[in-house]
This record gives sequence, C-alpha cells and structure tokens, in this order.
Amino acid sequence: APRIVIAGASMGGLRAAEQLRGAGWTGEIAVIGDEPHMPYNRPPLSKEVLAGKAPFESLAFTPKASAADVSWRLGAAVAGARLADRLLTLDDGTELPFDGLVIATGMRPRRLRCPGPVAGRHTLRTLADAEALRAELTRPGVRVVVVGAGFIGCEVAATAVGLGAVEVTVVDPEPLPMLRPLGELLARALHRRHEDRGVRFALGTGVSAFEGDDRVTGVVLGDGTVLAADVVVESVGSVANTEWLDGNGLDLTDGVLTDELLRAGGLPHVVAVGDVARFPNARYDGVPRRVEHWSIPGDTAKHGAKTLVAHLGGAEPDLAPFAPLPTFWSDQHDFRLQSFGAPALGIADVRVLDGDPDSDVLVGYHTDNRLVGVVALGGQAMAAGAARYRAQLLKAPVGAATAL
Ligand code: FAD
Repeated sequence: APRIVIAGASMGGLRAAEQLRGAGWTGEIAVIGDEPHMPYNRPPLSKEVLAGKAPFESLAFTPKASAADVSWRLGAAVAGARLADRLLTLDDGTELPFDGLVIATGMRPRRLRCPGPVAGRHTLRTLADAEALRAELTRPGVRVVVVGAGFIGCEVAATAVGLGAVEVTVVDPEPLPMLRPLGELLARALHRRHEDRGVRFALGTGVSAFEGDDRVTGVVLGDGTVLAADVVVESVGSVANTEWLDGNGLDLTDGVLTDELLRAGGLPHVVAVGDVARFPNARYDGVPRRVEHWSIPGDTAKHGAKTLVAHLGGAEPDLAPFAPLPTFWSDQHDFRLQSFGAPALGIADVRVLDGDPDSDVLVGYHTDNRLVGVVALGGQAMAAGAARYRAQLLKAPVGAATAL
C-alpha cells in the first residue's frame, strides 16, 4: 500500500494524521516520534502542570476517530532522509520507504553556552522537562533565576512565585519583558504586573557564567552582579529539529522553508507543518516566517495534508491562498495575554483600543494604518474583547489586512 510517513509525534504530527484521512488518504500512515508518549498538549507544562494543578495524564490529546487507523512508532527518532529516493533512516538503522512525507519535528530549547556547571539548569519543552523542574521548584526556600523574559520565561516565573519560591528573578538583555513580540506599551504593563506579584527583574544585561562546583549556586550577569540561585531555567528561544534533513538541498536556516502549499524544497511529496515550518502567510506580507503558536499545527496540517493527498492522487493541489490567523494566549499569575493576528508586524503603531495600561487593556497593532493584530492583557473580559476583533481580522481580505 502507498505510505505517508509523519516525522514527529506531537500536535503537528497528530493533526496531520487526522487531516490526511480528512483529505481522503486511504493508504498507510506511519508516525515516528522520539518521545515515549502519544501526542500531548504542551501549554500546560509551564502553567497547570508545573503548578501541580493538573496531572501529567490530563495532557494527552484524544485523537479524532479519523486517525484510528494510524501506526505509531514511539521512542524512535528519524536519523536521516533521502527525500528524492523517498527513504528515511531511523536511529536503530531501520530504513523506511515512503510515498509522501510530513515534517513535524518541531523545536527544542536553545541552550546557553556560558562557562560553569550544568546540574541545576533546566529547560522546558517536554513532559520529562516539566517533571524534573517541578521537583526542584517545590523544594522549600528555593531561589530561582529564569534566563530569558519571553513567553515561557514569564510563565515559569509566575508559576514559581505561585509555588512559594522565595526569590524569583528574570534576567534578559532587553530593557523590558516580551518587548520584541509585544512592543513597549504592553511590555511595560506586563513588567509592572510581574513586579507587583513578586517577580524581580535584572534587565538590560545577559548571563556571562554560572557559579558552583557540582551544581549551579549562582548566576553571573554581564555587569558582574551575582544572583544566588538553587535552580536556573533557561528560556532563551528554540532551535528547529532539522538535522535529520541535512544533505537534501532544503533551506534549513530557520526551520524548514516552504512555499505557500507547505512544500519543502519544491518537492511535491514533502510538506512541513507546525512550529518547524517557515511558510509565507498571504494574510500579511507573504514573507516566510515560523510561528510557534498553538493554532498553527492544526492550520498547517490541514493545508499540508490537502497538498500531499492531491499530489499523490495525481490531482492539482488546492491553490487557495494559505492565510491562517495566528492565535496565542499566555496565562501568567492571575491574568492572561490573548493575541490574535500578527502584533509583531505592527509594533511601530500601537493604539489602545479599550481599557488602560494601568489596569486591563486591549491594544491594536497597525501597519500602514491597518489593523494586523490585537493583544489583550488582563482578565476574561479583556480576552473576550480581543476575541471580538478576531472576527474582524478574519474577515479582512487576504493580502490586505483590515483598514481601520
Ligand atoms: P512539537 O510540539 O515541538 O513536536 C515535535 C515532536 O517531534 C516532538 O515530540 C519531538 O520530540 C519530535 N521529534 C523531534 N525530532 C525528531 C526526530 N528526528 N525523530 C522523531 N521525532 C522527533 N502556544 C500557545 O499558543 N499558547 C501557550 O500558552 C503555549 N504555551 C507553551 C508552553 C510550553 C512550555 C511550550 C513548550 C510550548 C507552548 N506553546 C504555546 C507552543 C505550542 O505548544 C507549540 O506551538 C506546539 O507544541 C507545536 O507543535 P509541533 O507538533 O509543531 O511541535
């Protein structure tokens, strides 16, 4: 039977399996994943799971009925690929031929390369990471340094305070948390909220070394300050899992570059989905970008599955422009950030749409006077306010964002 192989058994891989069946694929589907688990939901890892409010078991996705007839090979990594020959090699040496391939291998945390001990330094991407970090954060009197004030760093800091850590300090070379994705107005508001709830910040400076013999006891900052630390969390961005694709002539500079049909390297039998895909979005400027948001695995899987099934069935692929609306939320302390669209593209023109930055606020991001994204900061009411703009952002003609 013809076979589609999906590399990566997380949200992108699962959604691809479901969507391939949805698109009419009746051949074999084999999913290869290097984690020992069936696909599970990552967002709670830095929130409810780390806080001990949700058991690990609650994270598992329930595959749709359409994905019942799929073979899962877990705890096995794809080690290499010869795409033109339609052949994968697994880490145990097994060769796996395929007719179509879905690349869904996602990202892994970037590590800091400073001198000093490794023990006591954590990253957060997998269930195993969350389990290990939780064990450390629940030790009485623990002092925590979070390196990197992005989404995950801010969430971990908030959760650590909630767990009763005595000192939680976030270090970042930027002058404010989440400055680049959100812009100054919201970054300031966020900074204040975190400080009010007990998070300390060391901003405008990076980390130059870690102190300690067998395990970390302190973090040396670029300006020479030393922060005492029992636990360090490195949340300094991510790296695409694409080494296994080397040697196939793909553009792997930042994830897997695709065309508007999610095909990689112009190959009609290879698509990329989820965090690892760098795709052009017709809703905006068409510049290929990776989007590490929870909504993207589903959107890319649907579009990529159509591309692949059409090609393997000898039909023309669906040429409807691919124009997903990125959707992101982040729960921190007692508040939520809720984002729709592409705020980072409109950071030069930020306007308050509702509320005010000292309490709950809803902010609009514009390019050429056009609304390209909204972000709410605050309680449920503000998040719902953002959702009202979602319809407007979705209705916008593709290729030209909503005019105000
Ligand atoms: P991944 O989930 O990274 O899956 C890739 C899978 O492939 C992994 O299982 C990996 O181990 C496996 N793999 C890698 N290489 C190989 C190989 N060679 N062979 C076999 N398997 C391989 N998004 C939001 O919108 N809101 C949030 O609040 C939010 N919170 C998050 C919190 C955390 C802690 C994390 C880590 C992410 C969060 N996200 C959030 C982002 C969201 O979880 C991701 O966008 C989503 O997980 C992407 O799914 P994916 O399948 O593309 O990639």
